[in-house]
Amino acid sequence: MVPAIVHLDADAFFVSCEQARDPSLRGKRCAVGGSQRGIISSASYEARARGVYTPMPTVSALKVCPDLILIRHTTGLYGEVSRRMFDLCETLTPIVQRNSIDEGYLDLSMCGLATPAAVEATVRRLQARIWEELQIPVSMGIARNKLVAQIASKLRKPRGFVVVPPGEEAAFLAPLAIGKLPGVGAKTEAALAGRGIRLVQDLFSRTEGELEAALGNGWRDMLALARGEDDRPVETEEEDAKSYSQQETFAADVGDFSQIEAVAKRMIDELMPKIRADGKRVRTITVKLRYPDFTQDTRSRTLEAATDLESPLYPLVGPLLREAWRKRRPLRLVSVKLSGVDGGAGQLEMFAQEDEKRRRLAGVLDRLNTRPGGEAVRHGHRLG
Ligand SMILES: [Mg+2]
Repeated sequence: MVPAIVHLDADAFFVSCEQARDPSLRGKRCAVGGSQRGIISSASYEARARGVYTPMPTVSALKVCPDLILIRHTTGLYGEVSRRMFDLCETLTPIVQRNSIDEGYLDLSMCGLATPAAVEATVRRLQARIWEELQIPVSMGIARNKLVAQIASKLRKPRGFVVVPPGEEAAFLAPLAIGKLPGVGAKTEAALAGRGIRLVQDLFSRTEGELEAALGNGWRDMLALARGEDDRPVETEEEDAKSYSQQETFAADVGDFSQIEAVAKRMIDELMPKIRADGKRVRTITVKLRYPDFTQDTRSRTLEAATDLESPLYPLVGPLLREAWRKRRPLRLVSVKLSGVDGGAGQLEMFAQEDEKRRRLAGVLDRLNTRPGGEAVRHGHRLG
């Protein structure tokens, strides 16, 4: 058995989806984002070369790159491309972790691939197939575990392909900037640089006392990361068919509650049209928060009656997030899962009429949003 964990990470995903739809955008300085008071959620590599990054206020992006082509977020498109991308991954192995809309892990260890070369060839074919069928460029990292595969996939973007042979994890990480390790944000990186720790390998020349002074209680965990140690399994969503979920990994850790809440509500806005389109209803909402050190907190709430509307779910989002976010530390990832799916029957009669009106309105808005080139209508919050 060849240990083979793959981290797949689409390059400039939202922009790539837009470029797949409109190839005239390829090679241009363009970005997906809101116009006034909005933020850039994805920027082409050409725009990045001009200093556009995510998340960045659109106003600032237009200052550094005045000819930036601004593309509005197309509701539904990115989720659909994501689903097809991961479906292609599942043609190789059922062990696929859809970590966020544009990145995830595959475990190919049990696929009967006898040599590392066979693993590499298989993953290269997958990368090519995702481009051929979806016109989405992706970067791949292959390693013994998730930690190293993820660092590898991000190393040579776009269209990166980095293989770390088993046993070479520590040697691979040693010369990298310390900020490549998960949990080392810009602030920690600057603080460590002040102590002369710039590369991963610099950690190994320090005494325990120095490490503790620099990293606090977490220094042992950091050393384990620096050695490339990680035994987290690739987690498939066991309830896949029975739930709808979305998650977002932030480019920079987020500690602002209103931003976290807005992201979670946007996920509901994106999931509910799918649920209505499938003719389903959901009963349970679960929020999951993950910190840079991979620890996480989740909370969930179950409604009395299943729903296919945003309105019963919105009031739950803020309180659930507040409960889950007891540590009040900046977050790396937020996810929302809607489960307890039923076929749409069994709604209590007394709610049916009022809901029917809202459902018709929601249906109209869903159609507006899925029109090719249609403007995203932020409808959910206003449905009440
Ligand atoms: Mg990506």
